[in-house]
Amino acid sequence: MKLKIEDTIKLHHWQRKCGKNMNIKSKDIVVIKTGKDKGTRGPIEKVFPTKNRIIVGGVNIVKRHAKKTSTRGGGIVEKPAAIDASNVMLICPHCDLATRVSYQIQDGEKKRMCKKCKKVIS
Ligand SMILES: [Zn+2]
Repeated sequence: MKLKIEDTIKLHHWQRKCGKNMNIKSKDIVVIKTGKDKGTRGPIEKVFPTKNRIIVGGVNIVKRHAKKTSTRGGGIVEKPAAIDASNVMLICPHCDLATRVSYQIQDGEKKRMCKKCKKVIS
């Protein structure tokens, strides 16, 4: 992960290192480990690597009071808000368990590997 200069300027010195060790990416299925949505599963919709935060579909729903626009009526809109990436665990597609991830080099490419069943995750 390469940080853009604009990103690093806005961040504190202790935040600049963040985002290098995220082992999850978009469309992965994860399980929530903490908070009110503990135990629920969902697909990752968006990742913010510099902030170390993610948006998981159907998790951490917040209500926002939206102004009426020409394309959409106003009112209360429910949408998922970002949560910290350390509060989720990846679900392995092969063994269907929450797992940690190790890395393996295959054909010159770094591949993620399930720590439980040792299979490569896409
Ligand atoms: Zn597995």
